[in-house]
Amino acid sequence: MLTTHTLGFPRIGSQRELKFAVEQFWRGELDEAGLNATGRELRLRHWQWQHAAGLRFVAVGDFSYYDQILDTTVLLGAIPKRFGFDAAQLSRSQYFELARGNAAQPACEMTKWFDTNYHFLKPEFDHDTRFDGGPQWLLDELQEATQAGFQAKVQLVGPLTLLKLARVQGIDALSLLPRLLPAYVRLLRQLAAEGCNWVQLDEPILGLDLDSHWLNAYAPVYRELAEAHPGILLTTYFSGVAEHAELLKSLPVAGLHLDAVRAPQQLGAFGDWHAGKVLSVGIVDGRNVWKTDLDAALDKLTPLYHRLGDNLWIGSSCSLLHVPVDLDQETRLAEEIKDGLSFARQKLAELATLSRALCLGRSVCFQALEQNRAALTRYRTLPARNDAAVARRLANLPEIERGLSYGERALLQRERLKLPLLPTTTIGSFPQTNAIRAQRGAYKRGELSQADYTRAMQAEIAHAVSRQEALGLDVLVHGEAERSDMVDYFAEQLAGVAVCQHGWVQSYGSRCVKPPMIWGDVSRPVAMTVEWTRYAQSLTSLPMKGMLTGPVTLVQWAFVRDDKPRAEVAYQMALALRDEVAELDAAGIAAIQIDEPAFREGLPLKRADWPAYLDWAVTAFKLSAAGSRPETQVHTHMCYSEFEDILPAIAAMDADVITIETSRSAMTLLDAFGDFRYPNEIGPGVYDIHSPRVPPVTEMTTLLEKALKVIPAERLWVNPDCGLKTRAWPETEAALINMLAATRQLRQRL
Ligand code: GLN
Ligand code: ZN
Repeated sequence: MLTTHTLGFPRIGSQRELKFAVEQFWRGELDEAGLNATGRELRLRHWQWQHAAGLRFVAVGDFSYYDQILDTTVLLGAIPKRFGFDAAQLSRSQYFELARGNAAQPACEMTKWFDTNYHFLKPEFDHDTRFDGGPQWLLDELQEATQAGFQAKVQLVGPLTLLKLARVQGIDALSLLPRLLPAYVRLLRQLAAEGCNWVQLDEPILGLDLDSHWLNAYAPVYRELAEAHPGILLTTYFSGVAEHAELLKSLPVAGLHLDAVRAPQQLGAFGDWHAGKVLSVGIVDGRNVWKTDLDAALDKLTPLYHRLGDNLWIGSSCSLLHVPVDLDQETRLAEEIKDGLSFARQKLAELATLSRALCLGRSVCFQALEQNRAALTRYRTLPARNDAAVARRLANLPEIERGLSYGERALLQRERLKLPLLPTTTIGSFPQTNAIRAQRGAYKRGELSQADYTRAMQAEIAHAVSRQEALGLDVLVHGEAERSDMVDYFAEQLAGVAVCQHGWVQSYGSRCVKPPMIWGDVSRPVAMTVEWTRYAQSLTSLPMKGMLTGPVTLVQWAFVRDDKPRAEVAYQMALALRDEVAELDAAGIAAIQIDEPAFREGLPLKRADWPAYLDWAVTAFKLSAAGSRPETQVHTHMCYSEFEDILPAIAAMDADVITIETSRSAMTLLDAFGDFRYPNEIGPGVYDIHSPRVPPVTEMTTLLEKALKVIPAERLWVNPDCGLKTRAWPETEAALINMLAATRQLRQRL
């Protein structure tokens, strides 16, 4: 049979067993042996699934108690010196200290893994980083798999991707190669000696815009690695590498993996792939939850199979880490939607069927193919996938401009809102207390009636409003007590969007998210936030800010249907939000915030694709906002992200006020907006909400003074960095008291 494999399987477990075990270990409720037992159990279970589905290889090295990039760094012995740990003797607790920090040292820096929602820990290298003495974890896992009777393909992050993603201080990252390579060579030799015939080295940076400095490193590096191990599979994913085809064909590795889901056209550039080397085609989508169209996949693979024979491998496009584990657990999801879905476990079966059909003929798998065809036909013809009313609106998009310019709007808004200089506000959420969560839980379990739940949430809103009034804030929020999550809350109410019960995907460490699935045309059957907002406004004479999650963020944090352009899905979302904006406006809400924390992370991996993205993302935002009258103030909020290179797009969104996260960078992020370059109003966060620390007044006045150097006082707002939902009330109030004191001091001086 044709070789089938995945580039990695989710490790959290179908019931998030790993999350719970790791958190128990952190709390001291589970010892190391207990944690290891859970890890072993999960690895074994996942290997069994891969094996039972009929895959040739099981993936080894994809497991991690926190993050696989951290694991690679640790295996190579390159632990940041500042922790003072001995790499060879690294204990599990010390490993977690690297990931989470300890009393003496902050954690390693965390960032997003390419354009996914997975966060990895950045390796920290400097001029005297040594790469030796790491623990034996990988070899132990390999042995575990071999002893259980599986054929293992071990995976590691490739050396150039590791270096490129590392935080390297004071030196050129590539200058570390002479020290890093021997560590890889050593590891590869050990793996070969243990009988591991294939090692997958992930080099996803090949899909970025790489300069020649980095590209030129590939040939010498892989020549050396290929000498250490004859079975290297170099894997690329998330974007095409056609422009490097000649280089990749010339590398002495045993095989190359291409992502044929994200970049199907690139297969053409590898049409003359040499016989004798493996070409692994990532045909099953590792980034999305939709069922593979097996007929279409076979049509694509058949000519390749005829040419390459057994040198054709088929796999997931990338690691399955980015999709939920098992669709069979979803008992509440409508069957008609499940017809279109496939999670990690189901994707294994798809790979096995493809392999059988290619080798033995489609007639041999007639039943599986027929089932796939029938399910997809049912799913694709669901009326809600192509809603005529939505199509009509899209064909005839309403105005995206607000009618008046910012300057003209600002005058009307000043008149209406009667705000002081340096107006103060918060980003939306107030503490999500245990009491709130308990009530929501009871309501979801049916133990609390809808009326009682509404009353309970109204009481929370009233509490938040009275606290804000007492503090002296200028523009209030209702506090988002009724929302478990800023995406789920809307996903649950929008037509065309489904939320699953167990569809967890690892975000970082033990943290998992459950992205909604946008499977049909999106519309808003009924108002989503208007009643809560109206209630909150009824409690105060101060302006109450309506609070919505923006179209780009709702799309970016979901699994998005792949039969329509992303832009079109975002416009559908924007139109639904536009109706909500108009209704809030009609209800007399004078300020409406449309959050877009995911705006920047939606940027494509290759710069050439940025303009197209920014164009539709800005349009989607404006489409959602422009349903408001000019005297209604539109806010947006974006979390920590650099704006330097996208400032024109941010300005083009034309929100009246943008609040951004800047305090952690001591306002350096403001440089992008600096020298009065940002045309509208802006609230650079003056304190970090990610920590319970209460910053003193002087700290905030200093930050505000810095901000005043680049933003005129008439356009400066004062607010925390982000929402306060993860904080407790005492520290929240203490910090806001200081924020307001700082504001008063500055107002007096202006
Ligand atoms: N309005 C949201 C809140 O305050 C914004 C959250 C975010 O930016 N991630 O919680
Ligand atoms: Zn935020």
